[in-house]
Amino acid sequence: MAKEKMPAIGIDLGTTNSCVAVWRNGKVEIITNDQGNRTTPSYVAFTKKERLIGDAAKNQATINSANTIFDVKRLIGRGFYDEAVQNDIKLWPFKVVPSNDEDKKPLIVVTYMGKEKKFTAEEISAMVLSKIKEIAEAYLGVTVKNVVVTVPAYFNNLQRQATKDAGVIAGLNIIRIINEPTAAAIAYGLDRKAATGKTNVMVFDLGGGTLDVSLITIESDAFEVKSVSGDTHLGGEDFDNRIVNYFVNEIKRKHRKDISGNSKAIGRLRAACEKAKRILSSAAVTSIDIDCLFEGIDFSSSFPRARFEKLSFDLCKRCIGPVEKCLKDAKMEKKDVDEIVLVGGSSRIPKIQELLSKFFDGKQLCKSINPDEAVAHGAAAHAAILSCVDNEDYVLVDVTPLSLGIENHRGEMSVIIPRNTPIPVMKVKEFTTTEDNQSEITFNVYEGENPIANKNNFLGVFELSGIPPAPKENPNIKAWFEIDADSIMKCYAQDEASGSKNGITISYQTGNLSKEDVERMLREAEKYRYEDELCKVKVQAMNELEEYLEDMRYFLEAEKSIVLEDRNMMEDVIEKTVQWMDWNFLLTEISKFKDKLKELKSVCEPIVKKMDKLCDAEAGITNVGNDIVEVD
Ligand code: AMP
Repeated sequence: MAKEKMPAIGIDLGTTNSCVAVWRNGKVEIITNDQGNRTTPSYVAFTKKERLIGDAAKNQATINSANTIFDVKRLIGRGFYDEAVQNDIKLWPFKVVPSNDEDKKPLIVVTYMGKEKKFTAEEISAMVLSKIKEIAEAYLGVTVKNVVVTVPAYFNNLQRQATKDAGVIAGLNIIRIINEPTAAAIAYGLDRKAATGKTNVMVFDLGGGTLDVSLITIESDAFEVKSVSGDTHLGGEDFDNRIVNYFVNEIKRKHRKDISGNSKAIGRLRAACEKAKRILSSAAVTSIDIDCLFEGIDFSSSFPRARFEKLSFDLCKRCIGPVEKCLKDAKMEKKDVDEIVLVGGSSRIPKIQELLSKFFDGKQLCKSINPDEAVAHGAAAHAAILSCVDNEDYVLVDVTPLSLGIENHRGEMSVIIPRNTPIPVMKVKEFTTTEDNQSEITFNVYEGENPIANKNNFLGVFELSGIPPAPKENPNIKAWFEIDADSIMKCYAQDEASGSKNGITISYQTGNLSKEDVERMLREAEKYRYEDELCKVKVQAMNELEEYLEDMRYFLEAEKSIVLEDRNMMEDVIEKTVQWMDWNFLLTEISKFKDKLKELKSVCEPIVKKMDKLCDAEAGITNVGNDIVEVD
């Protein structure tokens, strides 16, 4: 089968940061963004004038917190009333409300260009993905369409579907969704190592705000997630908070000033603390230096690693709990773990590495690949395999994260595909009627481990009708569950006697967003992209006007011999233009800025020319045509 030629792109769509990589010339390259950074904050901000994504959004977060969105990965594919969502909402500075329809999806509320707007998590994720797409296209010089995207191993079907929807809205074709720990193991080539036997890999992923620990077994191309554990609120930010609190107290002690209520000062201190924390992963001591931090304080203090370790020792120890739990859930012992892979920027903290290695009796940790890049690295390597595989049978398999089944007549979960089944997969189970002459059966499809079906995630429903009259328990009805390599599930049932058949596909059309929703969001995403472009052109026109104003102000200041009438005229037009800009910087029409510049030039330029001529005459220079000739 012919395959479309495409760059093999892997995207780690992270909670706090995202990373994109490409497979080129037989190796993985991490793609740097327009700021020269190898990861891009998963942040989107809305202002009076524009939409910002990535570094630009994060950089202005402290001054526009209600409209700066981050952490959407915690919302994607979830319902507004989910316990985790309700807990997270309390911590965010931005507003989240339930949708009006029966899905009660969380909607993020922002003020954009002076108007209230509501976005789904898929739309915000799509904005991050479109930025990543843009970054990759600028780096590679070609259009990027087909990508492999990673998700946490514990993501359920709805969360995976929603991630795929985000890809569609961003104009990407997600050719495969793979688990983050699977990608990290691929990055270290552990799949190839396992080709000769079975390898148990523990992936320890400590990012900015979450700890995910997974135990996977790799055996002849199959990745089986044995167990997952973690802490949804433990990460680099907790370490930053410890340092910030320490210095707030030190400033109180040394300077008798409390900076805790000043968000600008706290923001600057936090940035300096985070930088110091990073430095301490490789240096024994660093310092925090911030000029004019607060009420005239130029703050400077040395910060040794030992102090950082003392401040954060309990946090480091907290990281080991989920490791123990993960082993216990997988019914494995420490000695069964063959490899320990470090993922996430915070796994660089030396004390954490020390505790982890000690826990595994001094075992070496896999840390040669940048931990914040390992997942994207593996995703790109996997994309490379997918894009050059000609043998359709060859696939690197993932597994179903949760069991899939239907509700039986007692309300129990009747599992058809158990969790951790390698995909693609097709399984059949036999059912029958519970009443005499029953002509219909309703199949409620669920995902989860609870024996009570409706305590699990509801995925969809379909009816099988046309069952011929027969005593109860006589009809022979088969239910099939089929999942393709993209985790898209088809469920159907057939009555053997009549041949009557029905089913559903749990894909984005029916799983999470409707096809119409996706199409609408696609149109809107295009509109926002257009507005971003417009905004860039407008900013350019505004800058030109501002630059000219600045030049003219300088001219007025430097030229002392301008006649009073001209000076007044120029000062007047400059003042009026400045006022016009104050009121009109939100104007969408770019032409108005251009008109204003023309107007300004029409007053200023004749005066500038007049002064130039005067200067030339004084210096003894005359103009002949367009050439300037110096007269001796
Ligand atoms: P991630 O979400 O994987 O990009 O991780 C981001 C977190 O890693 C942030 O909290 C960073 O402060 C932290 N981080 C990045 N580099 C280092 C480092 N060298 N030492 C300690 N923490 C780091």
